[in-house]
Amino acid sequence: MKIGFLGLGNMGGPICGHLINAGHTITAYDVSPDALTGIIKQGAKGCTSPKEAAKGADIIFLSLPHPNISREVILGNDGILAGIESGALIAETSTVSPSLIKELAPAVLNQGGELLDAAVSGGVPGAVAGTLTLMVGGSEAGFQRLSSAMEAFGKNLFHCGGPGMGMLFKVINNMLAHVNWVALAEAVALGVKAGADPELLGNVVSVSSGRSAQIDDRLRKHVLPGNFTGGMKTELATKDSVLCLELARDLGVPVFLASAAHHIYELGMAKGYGEEEYGALIKLWEEWLDIEVRATDK
Ligand code: NAD
Repeated sequence: MKIGFLGLGNMGGPICGHLINAGHTITAYDVSPDALTGIIKQGAKGCTSPKEAAKGADIIFLSLPHPNISREVILGNDGILAGIESGALIAETSTVSPSLIKELAPAVLNQGGELLDAAVSGGVPGAVAGTLTLMVGGSEAGFQRLSSAMEAFGKNLFHCGGPGMGMLFKVINNMLAHVNWVALAEAVALGVKAGADPELLGNVVSVSSGRSAQIDDRLRKHVLPGNFTGGMKTELATKDSVLCLELARDLGVPVFLASAAHHIYELGMAKGYGEEEYGALIKLWEEWLDIEVRATDK
């Protein structure tokens, strides 16, 4: 298949790499010259605008850091809709609001294409391993066509409903992940302040009733080794926390835990952790409690 790929960061880079390895012909674009050079070395053709990436493509994938960027990349002067072929699919893998998908889908239909939300979960390790979970919104026919490309980087592919439903499932998933991380950070900080070894605490909880994916994804991968690079940036996690609060506000649904957890994301941003993996939020407790949550050999 001919595929356009926009945004080659922590997620988009490895996802695009799998599409190349699966034999697809890729035309890629990123505002970062380094990101573009990296994917050209793997076999993609580079280009200079979303419009150019869309020309002749059967599917155009997006993996971008902010909903406003997704909107501009689709609707802008040099955007996808200026170059899209009739019958082409746009697959939005960036995490955006369900309402943005519903807003943009008719404009794409008017140009003869279809916008599908194809939210991804599994983080950078899942993207690198090609084992992501995909939550897709759009037509059944669009889902079937997209699946043949998504199989290159996804293990669990779900058709969640019409336009926006994939993002809805993703926002709910992230609401749980982000509340779980704040709960784990708070609990581990309390344990360490009381004298527990954080690595042993993680090992015990991981086989007990308090376990969550955050033990592997944040505590073990980032906090214990003190490595806050790669993975999911705090600013992206904060963006997703806002998406959840906006959805709840629009529907008049009280979300007590997500609202409380959001303060931690805002504090982390104010502290300047935006570019760091969101495991870095543990540093808030480290400062408040004068502790260090690290493996003993670090
Ligand atoms: P990232 O910041 O690493 O990558 C974003 C890429 O988009 C960068 O290479 C950047 O240069 C590029 N970009 C920015 N503006 C652009 C534009 N106008 N045109 C083309 N390229 C542009 O972010 P990421 O971690 O790869 O996340 C991408 C999306 O996937 C986000 O919406 C995020 O919420 C979502 N997501 C991330 C994870 C994760 O664990 N990192 C997991 C699931 C979903």
